Amino acid sequence: MQTAEYIELEDRFSARNYDPLNIILEYGDGAWVYDIGGKRYLDCLSSYSALNHGHRHPRIVEAMKQQLDRLSLTSRAFRNDQFGPFCQELCELTGYDMTLVMNSGAEAVETALKAARKWAYTRRMPTLPVDANLAEIIAFEGNFHGRTITIISFSTELQYRQGFGPFTPGFKNVAYGDLREFEASISPTTVAVLIEPIQGESGIRLPPDGFLRQVREVCTNNNLLLIADEIQTGLGRTGKLFGCDHENVRADIMIVGKALAGGMYPVSAVLSSREILGVFEPGDHGSTFGGNPLGMAVARAALKVLVEEGLIENSDRMGRYFMSRLAELPKKHIKQIRGRGLLIGVEIKSQSGPARPFCEALAREGILCKETHGQVIRFAPPLIINSEAIDWAMHRIEQVLTNM
Ligand SMILES: *Cc1c(COP(=O)(O)O)cnc(C)c1O
Repeated sequence: MQTAEYIELEDRFSARNYDPLNIILEYGDGAWVYDIGGKRYLDCLSSYSALNHGHRHPRIVEAMKQQLDRLSLTSRAFRNDQFGPFCQELCELTGYDMTLVMNSGAEAVETALKAARKWAYTRRMPTLPVDANLAEIIAFEGNFHGRTITIISFSTELQYRQGFGPFTPGFKNVAYGDLREFEASISPTTVAVLIEPIQGESGIRLPPDGFLRQVREVCTNNNLLLIADEIQTGLGRTGKLFGCDHENVRADIMIVGKALAGGMYPVSAVLSSREILGVFEPGDHGSTFGGNPLGMAVARAALKVLVEEGLIENSDRMGRYFMSRLAELPKKHIKQIRGRGLLIGVEIKSQSGPARPFCEALAREGILCKETHGQVIRFAPPLIINSEAIDWAMHRIEQVLTNM
């Protein structure tokens, strides 16, 4: 089949909830992918940072193959020999007491919100009266936390909400980076704050220096839980284990997903203290696939690779190199370059038009990336990338940004 035929099939049989670039991929290897015509591309999106380990990392493939020959799914009705060890390894890596394992990022965000609400009704002093359903959680303008109805209830992106109401009450939005507005919005029923250390989907937006630390202080002083959504920024993407680590901030509840199982299997997790995750009792919450032995074996291998192969350090090193090379490019179309580690945004000047045609031109040159929020090209290659690949890409990025 040809490219046009695959596109026709998708358009005919799949809901059109995405607007993908018209490239049909069939093979991936490390930081590279190949389309059905054999053309090679450098993957600079990494499936929205789910592929921190690159495509088909051999140690993770091997772990998955071995586990497939043993046991795939038990449900949590029974125990399995991968779940406990994974929970221990994840807690030891991150320094949290306990974890609750789910599959998608959105599910983990929902889990964190439930944990915060139940904590407020059962453990926070003084507790909120549970029947009044008053618990309120603050989120930030420009947030992206997933696509469930509760999560889009506090999105500030019109398209994410339009046509999907009614929405879940109990959320408030404040401007990202505005400490005064954040403090002013706290009420006696506010119980938690949900934040991304860098807003990925809304255009690689970094808060002002010190903001995370100040939010942490305000949370501590007001007995609010700080919930960090590090589904995209976590696990080395920004050059440290967590985006919060850049300001030495410890979240009360940490949410991870995407790269947790090396992009080979959907595994997400909520991490927190015994006091907070201890609110869950049998029957309170669950997932048929959450904690399944196949996902756990894959995630265990992915965590090992992350640490043993120095992916976090490489993200820091290669991120600095990538940014420094971008800074040398002609400024004809570039308004701003920003990011941390290998989560990098290049904002295109408004007079140069939207970022999409730039992404299409980059794809023709063999670089796969995706526009985010209209004006921003996101560069987020796998954390295994080396400087030769960056040099290869930079030559092409320069051509596109010069000739467009
Ligand atoms: C991708 C993402 C999510 C949602 O994860 P899914 O697995 O797509 O449900 C939530 N929060 C952030 C910050 C993300 O980048």
